[in-house]
Amino acid sequence: MSEVSRVQRAPDDLFLRIVAGEVPATIVHSDDLVVAFEDVNPQAPVHVLVIPRERHENVAQLAAAAPATLARLVEVAQRIADERCGGEYRLVFNTGTAVGQSVFHVHGHVLGGRGFTWPPG
Ligand code: 5GP
Repeated sequence: MSEVSRVQRAPDDLFLRIVAGEVPATIVHSDDLVVAFEDVNPQAPVHVLVIPRERHENVAQLAAAAPATLARLVEVAQRIADERCGGEYRLVFNTGTAVGQSVFHVHGHVLGGRGFTWPPG
């Protein structure tokens, strides 16, 4: 399936539009399975989103449908954290509106470069 037809099937999927180059983003990694780009509203000195090229709504759906893609996503998250914040980072998959998911194309938030509190707010 081409990027264009994916966008036509899911016109509301902002992150597919970023993958297709229709919405500008600062891309920091791109391969056959995943794309990573800077979050437009960073919550930490390092705040990168890593997403699968294909649309899956949340991380559980990605794990069930494409485990190799999830493994690649985690590998890329680790590599970004190694390069930018000494390999210490938080990898967050918000799942559901109640906990703050606003884009329903699974994305791992790679957050680092400062201290974090626990539990999260
Ligand atoms: P969520 O709330 O779904 O876990 O995370 C969505 C993330 O996407 C937020 O951190 C938000 O700042 C980011 N975001 C929303 N729209 C855009 C956009 O157009 N470009 C980029 N680069 N990030 C976006």
